[in-house]
Amino acid sequence: MQDRYGHRISYLRVSITDRCNERCGYCMPQELQEWLPRHEILSYEETLRIMRIAVALGVSKVRITGGEPLTRRGIIDFVRQIPAIRQITSIGLSTNGTLLAREIAPGETMAKALCDAGVQSLNISLDTLDPEIYSQITGRDFHAQVLAGIDAAIGAGFEQIKMNAVLMRGRNENQLLPLIEFAAARKLLLRFIELMPVSTTEVLNESNFMSVMEAKRLVESAYGSLIPDTEFRTNGPAIYYQIPGRPQRVGFIGAMTNMHFCENCNKLRLTCDGKLRPCLGSYLEFDIMQPLRAGASDEELKQFFLNVVDRKPREHDFRHNYQPNRKMVAIGG
Ligand code: SAM
Ligand code: SF4
Repeated sequence: MQDRYGHRISYLRVSITDRCNERCGYCMPQELQEWLPRHEILSYEETLRIMRIAVALGVSKVRITGGEPLTRRGIIDFVRQIPAIRQITSIGLSTNGTLLAREIAPGETMAKALCDAGVQSLNISLDTLDPEIYSQITGRDFHAQVLAGIDAAIGAGFEQIKMNAVLMRGRNENQLLPLIEFAAARKLLLRFIELMPVSTTEVLNESNFMSVMEAKRLVESAYGSLIPDTEFRTNGPAIYYQIPGRPQRVGFIGAMTNMHFCENCNKLRLTCDGKLRPCLGSYLEFDIMQPLRAGASDEELKQFFLNVVDRKPREHDFRHNYQPNRKMVAIGG
């Protein structure tokens, strides 16, 4: 699948729930959160069918996300069915980490079960090592669980574990170096992400926004000039650098300030309520649940996908007049 701007689509982000056990202000602004009723959420079977359609059109990488995907019942059995879609070469999952250390069977953590079920790469969000600040950011007191979750993930044997930290001036700029040291000690790949106005435009303002350039300068003031590592790429738009004198890379995801951010975009998103979104930073979304539940054939669903790809914008609208119509938690990050 290729759009009119030359973006080749190989990656599907699949959100399986809009629910979450945390309340990060940038993702789920504080007003009363109403979860979608169960029947408005794609069943796992429906989700797997859509994934098969995407794969038939060239998607080879999927990432399961949410909301918090580990809060949805049956996740392990769901994930176990993904490797049976043979053309999928990369299965990832994004999580806040709070439930990874939970024992789901005697001696078996959620992390181990996910790894055994076929998840190869895990993204764990952690914006700070300070439990107090963590509670302020996430609205929950789960810092210790996340640290235990990271240990459980390391013990589980994933091919790759990444840590994602959202940059927020006044909140975590003093945490960049501690996070780098934390990641180094555990051999995890850390990425810093610019705050995006995804949920409401108010989540981002001049006083709390910190650019990746600024974060990079802060990091360089401690470690010296970072060495660009242009060869190294993961599936996303992060730019990676080597920290001088050590075998550690850090990534920077500059959705707001990197003018080339969208050039190599390879993604489509599927929301848990069955909307295909050609771009995170565009209000465009297309309801694939409706034709699916109305009995559409595989060929019709393929055509639906192709039509969505055809509407993929050249770049996101975040810098212009983006009008959020969904909270991040209900899109799937
Ligand atoms: N609950 C999981 C988690 O927290 O990793 C998965 C879903 S969450 C929506 C995915 C990622 O989106 C997280 O790393 C989170 O920090 C990021 N995110 C949420 N809102 C954001 C925003 N306004 N700007 C930048 N990143 C955001
Ligand atoms: Fe939940 Fe993740 Fe959003 Fe935080 S970022 S509210 S953990 S979905």
